[in-house]
Amino acid sequence: MASASSSDQVIRLMTMDGAFRLVAAVTTDTARGALAAQATGDALGLRLAELLTSAVLVRETTAPTRRVQMVWRDRRGRSLVADALPDGLNRGLVNPGEDAPVDPGGDHILQVNYTLLNGSLHQGMVAVADGDDMATALMRYMKQSEQIVSMIAVAALPGPGGVRACGGYVVQLLPEATKDVIAAMTEHLGNLEPITSLLEGRGRTAAELAKTVFAPFEHALLAASPLRFGCTCSEVRVMTSILTLPDAEVESMLSGDPLEVRCDACGHQYVITPDALRDFRDSAAAARS
Ligand SMILES: [Zn+2]
Repeated sequence: MASASSSDQVIRLMTMDGAFRLVAAVTTDTARGALAAQATGDALGLRLAELLTSAVLVRETTAPTRRVQMVWRDRRGRSLVADALPDGLNRGLVNPGEDAPVDPGGDHILQVNYTLLNGSLHQGMVAVADGDDMATALMRYMKQSEQIVSMIAVAALPGPGGVRACGGYVVQLLPEATKDVIAAMTEHLGNLEPITSLLEGRGRTAAELAKTVFAPFEHALLAASPLRFGCTCSEVRVMTSILTLPDAEVESMLSGDPLEVRCDACGHQYVITPDALRDFRDSAAAARS
C-alpha cells in the first residue's frame, strides 16, 4: 500500500436558502501520486488527473462513504480508470490488462460505477464526443444518470510530476432553487475565471476555491475531508489472491523462489517468500476448520 503526504482536500458547502450545493476539490498531490505510479504523463496523464478529480466530485455529491470508480474508455475498449475510495484514498490505472495505450483523441465513453447502500452496483455511462472536455462529459452524466442539473469545472494543468495543479468544482441545483436565484448563480458562474485560472489564482486550495465560487451567496460548510493518493492493496490481499490459483500452481510456488508481485494501481512491489505463503495458507486453513 502506497501513500504520500498531501495537502489536497474536498469541501462541501450549501447555500443558506437551500438552493445550491457545492463540492470543490484540489487534487494536485493526489494526481501526482497516481501519475508517478502509472509512469504516465502528457495528455493521457492530464486526462487521468481529471478523471480522478471527477471521481472525487461524484463521490462527494452522491454519498461520501461510497467507493466510486470512473472509467474513460476509447473506441477499442482501452481505458483509464480512477477509484475514489473511502477515507479519501484515490488511485488511477492506465489501460489495465492492455498493452496498447488509450487513445487520447476521438470518441470515448465515460462510465461511472458505485455501490449502493443495499450492496447493488449502480452503473451509468455517457458518450463523450471527440473534443468534449471532462466537465462537459460529467455534466451530461449527472443530468442523464442522476437527473441532477449541475455546473461543473474540472482541469489539470501540465507541469512537474505530470501536473502542476489539478482540481474542480460542482454546483448542484437543489429542489429549493427558484428562477431568480438560478439566474443569479448562472450569471455569477459565467463571470468567474475559468477553472484553469482559478487553480493558480483565487482557488489554490479547496477552501479558497469553494469561497470564490460561492462568495456572493450566504452559505454554510457541510464537510471538509483530506484527499491523497493511496491504495487498498496489502500483502494479505496478494497472498489471498495467490491461494485462489489451482493447487498445483500454489505447490510449485511453495517450493520455488520468492515471488515478486507488483500492484498495478499503486506500483507497490511485494515479495512473497515461500515460507510466508505457507504460513498464511496454514493459518487460513486453521481459521476455516
Ligand atoms: Zn496498491
